[in-house]
Parts: sequence; C-alpha cells; structure tokens
Amino acid sequence: MKQELNYGTDYKFIPVTSVGSGVGIEMLPDLFCHTIQIVNICLVGYPDDFVLIDAGMPKSANEIISVIEERFGPNSRPKAIILTHGHFDHVGGLIELVKHWEVPVYAHPLEMPFLTGQKSYPEPDPTVEGGLVAKMSTSFPNEPINLGSSVQTLPSDGTVPHMPGFRWIHTPGHSPGHVSLFRERDGALIAGDAFTTVKQEYMYKVFTQELEISGPPRYLTTDWEAAKQSVIKIEALKPEFAVTGHGLPMSGEVLTTSLKKLVNEFDQIAVPDYGKYVN
Ligand SMILES: [Zn+2]
Ligand SMILES: [Zn+2]
Repeated sequence: MKQELNYGTDYKFIPVTSVGSGVGIEMLPDLFCHTIQIVNICLVGYPDDFVLIDAGMPKSANEIISVIEERFGPNSRPKAIILTHGHFDHVGGLIELVKHWEVPVYAHPLEMPFLTGQKSYPEPDPTVEGGLVAKMSTSFPNEPINLGSSVQTLPSDGTVPHMPGFRWIHTPGHSPGHVSLFRERDGALIAGDAFTTVKQEYMYKVFTQELEISGPPRYLTTDWEAAKQSVIKIEALKPEFAVTGHGLPMSGEVLTTSLKKLVNEFDQIAVPDYGKYVN
C-alpha cells in the first residue's frame, strides 16, 4: 500500500533561505514553530500528545524529525499531521514523514485532488508584481503529491483531530481548500498562507524576515476576492497570537492593528498591481 506514495516529477530542493532558517520559537507552552529555510512548521501539544502542522520544504524530512526529537525526546512522533494546504513548501517532507511515523494526514476536502495525485496546482506566476522570489517561482514544484489512503478529510464539524479546543476555518483564495486553525480559549491562530508577516515575493525581505503584514504569497494565489474574504474572516476572530506559513510570529497589539490594516487596505497591500491571476 505504501508504494503508492510519491511526490510529483518536478519535486526538488529549492535553494532559498532566511535568517530564521533552523530557528524555533515557542509562542505558547504548547505552540512551537520552526522555520525550514523560508517556511514554518508548527508543533501543537505536549510530549506524547502533539500534532505537526505542515511539512516544510522539499528534502526537509530529516530536519523535521530532529526538531521534534529535540523538543519532545527520542523517537517522539506526532499523533497526526494537519495540512493548511498542499503547496510544495508545506508538504516537502511529507512522504518520508508518513512512512517514518505511519501517522494519518488531514486536509480540507477541496485540497484532496492536490494530495492524491489527481490534479496539479495552477502554474506559479513569475510575472506577478514582486521581487526575486516571485521571479524564481517558475522553478517551484506544482505537480500534486500522492498520499494515497494516508490522507483523510478534516471532520466536517470543524474540529481538528488531536487538537482539542481548535477548530479549522476554511480560508480559501491562496488555494481552494486552504484552512487556518483557531483556538478560542487563548486566541491562538495558525494561519497557513491566508496571510503572511513578511513580503514573501521579495528575496531580501524573506532573507531578513522583516516583520510586515502582507497578503498570501502572490505567485501562487489565484483567487484574490476569496483571499480577501478569508482575511476578513480571520480578523473577525480577533486572534491574540498568530503563526503564519511565512514570516515571524505576530501577537497582541501589533497583530490586531496589522490585521485591521490588511483588511482595510487589502487591495493596496495584498493584491498585486499586475499578474496573470489579477483581473
Ligand atoms: Zn502556499
Ligand atoms: Zn507557503
């Protein structure tokens, strides 16, 4: 059964990095995030009872395993892997991890075709307004990973397996089945790529991780109206702590005012002036 698992034929290491690469931050006692080159993974929970959110850049499985064993002890394994979406930089180590731990993967139903080898994501747009990361996005893998029966849909009641207190929120736009995870009790938000805290299209800003609220990464976002509605939905939750797929975590007053600004000025801040997915 496991032989059916494979990456797309365009799967490869992408040579990009940031000052945050290899650095972990404990946002809350049970919420830890770690940067793999330019993308964040999260660990939610405590030893023996935790989940992994997203699976990093291509070829990062060994790093993810070490990060987990360093935090939770040798041979620790998550109860499940929850995906915010299936872009290459969020599923990069996934197949090795699923084989190593034999744990289930959960994603939104609309993301399934991209996780079961049925459908490629639209081509990234290197012509979109932005810097060097946008320009090099033609080299980013967009073929689907095939997780076969290892991937399941998130429960339709909004709960998140092995993450009590959290619910998943459909935040499409960047991808059709994109989800964010929110915990009412303390306002903890795992936003995925619904918004970012770094201008992800610009190599210099990605490298320095300069903190600046921004929309979803432009080169892979295809539905800007849905992306805007998703940010409105997130802002209405009034999160206290946010970990995004790209950029440093943001919290408190800075998060509140930044999200408000992103909602009010979405067309100026997030939506590119030109690009093939803007009309
Ligand atoms: Zn993405
Ligand atoms: Zn991403």
